[in-house]
Amino acid sequence: MLVRKPLIAGNWKMFKVVGEAVATIEALKPLVADVGGVDIVVCPPFTALYAAGQALRGSAVELGAQNVYKEAKGAFTGEIAPQMLLDVGCAWAIIGHSERRKIFGETDALLSEKLRFAVDTGLKVMFCIGETLEERQGGQMNDVLSRQVGEGLAKLSASDFERVALAYEPVWAIGTGVTATPEQAEEAHAYVRDLVRRQFDATIAEGLRIQYGGSVKPDNAAQLIAKPNVDGFLVGGASLDARDFAAIVKAGAGG
Ligand code: PEP
Repeated sequence: MLVRKPLIAGNWKMFKVVGEAVATIEALKPLVADVGGVDIVVCPPFTALYAAGQALRGSAVELGAQNVYKEAKGAFTGEIAPQMLLDVGCAWAIIGHSERRKIFGETDALLSEKLRFAVDTGLKVMFCIGETLEERQGGQMNDVLSRQVGEGLAKLSASDFERVALAYEPVWAIGTGVTATPEQAEEAHAYVRDLVRRQFDATIAEGLRIQYGGSVKPDNAAQLIAKPNVDGFLVGGASLDARDFAAIVKAGAGG
């Protein structure tokens, strides 16, 4: 049976100035130094990426950005190119976070272009999907996930999947303290994996890591990762604290 290496990432959102970011990384490094069998990523805000990358040198923890644009250069005020992220030490970018979709109006079409370009440029991507509470309560969850996966991954081909993970993040669980139950997460992840199988093929679907995100904490991570289709976490609030994030990393690695 194919074993998917857990991928545990911290999304720091718009928190931490440079000094705080470096201090968090310095605290995190020894806590996770001996944890094996798991990929670990931290995603500070853009302004702290370079310093964070320097602080991570020699560590297995990888650096990621929270967003990226779909062009290499040009008159795109306020945007950041994938090449710029690689230049400051990023290996990863998050694309399609629900806050980008909702607050900044990013569409499936735009996100699919961002994903295509980021992967072409050499970044690895955590591509976020997930339904709102209204969509879930209205019975539209599967349709929403189907649209986000179908359109979001539309420009990818089989070989791109080495650089892509999906993050299932039900919007109602993000920053709310309400976590999906392990059963709810498993149901959604299995559905998403089946969507990928139908859109691409069984090998790609089986190899694809699907992270869960939404109020993951040290005390619920072990139950979630125990589900066969949960392959890691994208952690917001709890990743701001080195001890909490390290505890989640350890749970993700199997305890
Ligand atoms: C997120 O921002 O991706 C997230 C899952 O946040 P939280 O863990 O705080 O719910």
